[in-house]
Amino acid sequence: MDEQEYKTMETKVIHAGQEPDPLFGGVSVPIYQSSTFAFQNAEQGAARFAGREKGYIYTRIANPTIKALEDSVAALENGYGGIATSSGMSAISTVLFGLLEKGSHLISTASVYGATRVMVENILSRFDVVADFTDTSKIDNIRRLIRSETKLLFIETPANPTLVLTDIAACAQLARENNLLLVVDNTFASPIIQNPLDLGADIVIHSVTKFLNGHSDVVGGVIVPREESIYQQLRKIMPLLGGNMDPHQAWLVLRGIKTLALRVEKSQENAFKLAQFLADHPQVAWVNYPGLKSHPQHDLARRQMRGFGAMICFGLKGGYEAGKKMINSVKIATLAVSLGGVESLIQHPASMTHAGVPQKEKEQAGITDDLIRLSVGCEGFEDLKADLEQALSQV
Ligand SMILES: *Cc1c(COP(=O)(O)O)cnc(C)c1O
Repeated sequence: MDEQEYKTMETKVIHAGQEPDPLFGGVSVPIYQSSTFAFQNAEQGAARFAGREKGYIYTRIANPTIKALEDSVAALENGYGGIATSSGMSAISTVLFGLLEKGSHLISTASVYGATRVMVENILSRFDVVADFTDTSKIDNIRRLIRSETKLLFIETPANPTLVLTDIAACAQLARENNLLLVVDNTFASPIIQNPLDLGADIVIHSVTKFLNGHSDVVGGVIVPREESIYQQLRKIMPLLGGNMDPHQAWLVLRGIKTLALRVEKSQENAFKLAQFLADHPQVAWVNYPGLKSHPQHDLARRQMRGFGAMICFGLKGGYEAGKKMINSVKIATLAVSLGGVESLIQHPASMTHAGVPQKEKEQAGITDDLIRLSVGCEGFEDLKADLEQALSQV
């Protein structure tokens, strides 16, 4: 069946890109654990290299198992095609190194993923790429920073770890008016609840390590451009930079994607109820969750997302000292970085994921010392609530 005919995400995650194997009919995509592919003769080898004949050459360039994953995510994001990478950071660096030039200017979300910011500021800067980080939830902040060298707008929404939202459609319009590429890191939402390309973005990026794989056992990334020209450009650049995915890694992610819709639905239902529980708790000072009416961009969340996600951040009245006590007392949620897995994870960004970001930048990005980040998993709500309740009672 043609992928365009799948009406629901539930069907897409199971079938798109994951056709039965044409050779033996295997229902699960086979793992082509081969670095290289035999040519029938010299003419065929030459034809493949010249692009006159379809087929595989070498796994750094392309591989059938990896291709299945790329087709799957491209279908979920309604893009032209997918390019799988060894990690989310590899997807981000491939896009930025691939599309920016010496002297290019880039604008990005202040509270963007910590490693993205450090990479841009410490490595891309060596190639004379200049970057401004700003609160992209206010479109005028972006407009003010645009200059003739500006090439690319890189946003993350919901942003990590503050859950501040950026209006994707408004950014897309601004990007079109100013001839910029709009890149959206959609890791926090997952394609189940947000499709940036449909809102006008040019490229969407995922750390598949998170919701797409969903089982905390793989690190990987994917790039999905909306149009063929950008896809072809990045398709050539990825193997040159060398950040390809591995076939076994791709197979695990394909397996994870089959339950993506179920997992996201369950974990965001848990998150919604836990956010309400935390908001009502006397020891909790504040809660940021796009599904709460108190979230400053609740209306935008309703407009551009089909759900509110599984990430919550909050602070306790006793500040970080109280928070430390709490995260040392939880028993079901695991104290670990990363997110989007079936298991709930809790962490303290200021001392962990964002420890490398200078204090001033952390403040600008709203990453306060008391901020605790909770990635809600698929456990039973009653257990998760009881666990947070007992951990808060230790404070
Ligand atoms: C984890 C993460 C990344 C980096 O992905 P890796 O797979 O760890 O390289 C990038 N962006 C966001 C929003 C993330 O959560």
